[in-house]
Amino acid sequence: MSDSDQLLQLLGVGGDHAVYVLDGDGKIATWNPGAERLTGYRSDEVLGRDAAIFLPPEAAQSGKAQSDLAIARASGRLEEEGWQVRKGGGRYWADVVLTAIFDDQGGLWGYLKTVRDLSERRAAAEDLWRSEERLRLLVEAVQDYALFMLDPEGRVATWNSGAQRLNGYRAEEIIGRHFKALYQPEDAAAGKAEREMRIARDQGRVEDEGWRVRKDGTRYWANVVLTAVRDASGQLRGFAKVTRDMTERRRAEELAAARAREQAAIAQLSLDALRLADVAAAMGQAVRAVSSTLDAGIVEVLELAPDQRTFSLRACAGRPESDLGIVVRAAGPESASGLALASDAPVFVWDLPSERRFPPRPDLLQRKVVSSLTVPIHGESPDAPYGVLSAHSRRKRAFTPTDAAYLSAIANVLATAIVRVRSEERVREAQRAAELQQLRLAQAEEALRQRDEFLSVAAHELRTPITALRLRLSGLEQSLRRGTGGAADEVAEKIQRSMRNTTRLAVLVERLLDVSRIVGGRLTLNLELVDLAEVAADVVEDVKEQAADAESELKLDVRARPKAEVDLLRIEQVLTNLVGNAIKYGAGKPVEVVVDQRDDTAVIIVRDSGIGIAPKDLERIFNRFERVAPSNRYAGLGLGLYISRRVVDAHGGTIGVRSEEGKGAIFEVILPLHPGPPST
Ligand code: ADP
Repeated sequence: MSDSDQLLQLLGVGGDHAVYVLDGDGKIATWNPGAERLTGYRSDEVLGRDAAIFLPPEAAQSGKAQSDLAIARASGRLEEEGWQVRKGGGRYWADVVLTAIFDDQGGLWGYLKTVRDLSERRAAAEDLWRSEERLRLLVEAVQDYALFMLDPEGRVATWNSGAQRLNGYRAEEIIGRHFKALYQPEDAAAGKAEREMRIARDQGRVEDEGWRVRKDGTRYWANVVLTAVRDASGQLRGFAKVTRDMTERRRAEELAAARAREQAAIAQLSLDALRLADVAAAMGQAVRAVSSTLDAGIVEVLELAPDQRTFSLRACAGRPESDLGIVVRAAGPESASGLALASDAPVFVWDLPSERRFPPRPDLLQRKVVSSLTVPIHGESPDAPYGVLSAHSRRKRAFTPTDAAYLSAIANVLATAIVRVRSEERVREAQRAAELQQLRLAQAEEALRQRDEFLSVAAHELRTPITALRLRLSGLEQSLRRGTGGAADEVAEKIQRSMRNTTRLAVLVERLLDVSRIVGGRLTLNLELVDLAEVAADVVEDVKEQAADAESELKLDVRARPKAEVDLLRIEQVLTNLVGNAIKYGAGKPVEVVVDQRDDTAVIIVRDSGIGIAPKDLERIFNRFERVAPSNRYAGLGLGLYISRRVVDAHGGTIGVRSEEGKGAIFEVILPLHPGPPST
């Protein structure tokens, strides 16, 4: 047995280990059976060869075998892990210990090399590494989620590309920073991040939806799940954070909600437009609805003028009510409104100040309007549109076709309401016209009837004195023919009576002439200063005989002697009428005339105790041809009071009556002492 074999036995090494003894030059002197198993060589194939045969070619070529020997020689021992090669080139990972052996004199005797196969351990480690790497790659590949780890203090520990995409930070910019950097400043200040960490720690997991902030400061709506990560011993190792951008979904939800609001607004408006008779009210409601649902700062309804050159503001939201009615000079296709009408389509304005299709409306520029949407409001026929409905925004925004569809729907509701109300108005107008026509017809018929009645009454009234006159004249003629002549007194008496009939005829004709004067506006007054007590006395004197015939006591009560500027004959005519009526309608009962003065007016009262007048007829009797008393018992044309009132009116005075049926009547004439201009 050689020294080397003895050494092997001496060391008692073997088993799993491959042990080589190398001579001072590094040549293999001997080895153990373990080495034979490990390397696959037989002893006779390796003994005496350089130990470099067990190294991979690249290591062997670089002189690693010799340099390792040198290190072992210098420091006594060298241990390392590295690749070894079997017979046939197969590699295995091994732990190699190289020990230098010196003789008693300190000279180098050789080396002992033990090699332990670590392949299995390495394979396990590699598997672990590989699966971790796969997971890392998987996490890295996820684009739509931000997946990252936080350390137990909340600092970002890992960062995937989805996180970079969502938040804008690159890994090196964010790793190590507290994750509250991803929150809105106010949320971060309020400790929202810490609160979520606490909940995740206590309950294992927390989920949240809310606004988060990107590196560039923009916001996004995020769904966030934070999960506590613990090791086998339960120790908190950190948090896994999964963040998903829900902005789109939220926007879609908001959009759906906005559409729902718009639908509701249209429905409500349609209902109200059906109920409201007033188009202005429907328009007011429409502009307010549009303003809130479309979030437009200014909303207007403009009505096209009949000449189609201008618009006027009919309803508005976002500008003062006092603007209603203002005229906007912007018809024709050189304006948004005109264009909407000409093209019968919505007109979108994205940036008003730089608009090129037409000059921007100065009043809108002044109100800082940037974006607009204008739709036509149809009218009763295609060539007669009503106007436009427009929504204006002070911020730059793109109104969408959906917005336009909504606005058009509102405009259509308005158009329907406008057309409906207009046609209703026309129906009402036609009805009014028909009613007026009916009234006029009735009035004309009534006038005809009154005229016929008047003619028959007038004829009757005129015939009576004429018949009497004829009788007297023929009697007179017979007396003259017979030559009897009779006494001169008798003839004179007959002539006097005839004269009275002529006077009565003259009065009747005069009344008719007065009516035509009044109707023709030709009633003129010859004013002179007159003592009204005197006038009353004269009239009373004149009708004395008439009163005596009717057996009515006639009394004059002069309480004052007012002097007024009047037309003497006309005032006489009035008093004669009143006293005559009092005697006619109060025959057999006393009649009283009172003259008085109140302040600046003369007052003349004619009172009787006759048949009286029903309250409903008190006003009517002053009208032309109006008679209340039965005509078979009382003669008359129904003109006396009519003429009297006009005469008194012309003097600036008044005439009125108080009466009750069967209780007599009190007529009162009030005349200003100094007449001003006539009241009519
Ligand atoms: P007439 O010629 O019929 O008297 P008037 O115009 O003088 O016309 O009067 C109109 C009507 O007023 C009369 O028909 C009569 O019915 C009523 N009336 C006028 N005066 C009196 C009176 N003193 N008492 C009762 N009724 C009167």
